[in-house]
Amino acid sequence: MSGNLLPVRAFLTRADGNLAMRKLEAAGIHGKLTAELGADLPFMLLVAPDQHQKSVEILRQTDSPASLCERCKRKPATVHLTMIVDGCSTTANFCRDCYETPRG
Ligand SMILES: [Zn+2]
Repeated sequence: MSGNLLPVRAFLTRADGNLAMRKLEAAGIHGKLTAELGADLPFMLLVAPDQHQKSVEILRQTDSPASLCERCKRKPATVHLTMIVDGCSTTANFCRDCYETPRG
C-alpha cells in the first residue's frame, strides 16, 4: 500500500471524526484522522485510495438525517428544537446560522 491517503470527509469535532472512523473499521477499512488547525472543519478522515469510494458510501449510508441542518442541509445541526405538532412530538434540527437567521 502506498502512503498516499485520500480525504473521505471533514468533521467539526474529533468525536465526530472518531465516530465515522469506527463505522469504517466495522467494515474493515482503517482510516486515519488528522487535525488541520484553523480550518472550518478541522478534522479530516483519510483512507487508502482503493478504499475511498467504499468509505464514502458507508458514511453516506450511516448518516443520520438529524445530524445535518434541515434548512440548508449542509452544516451540522447544533440546535435541536422539540415541537408538538398535532399531539406528536417532533424535533427540528438547525445549524446555528440558520437558527439565528429569521425565516423569510
Ligand atoms: Zn443551516
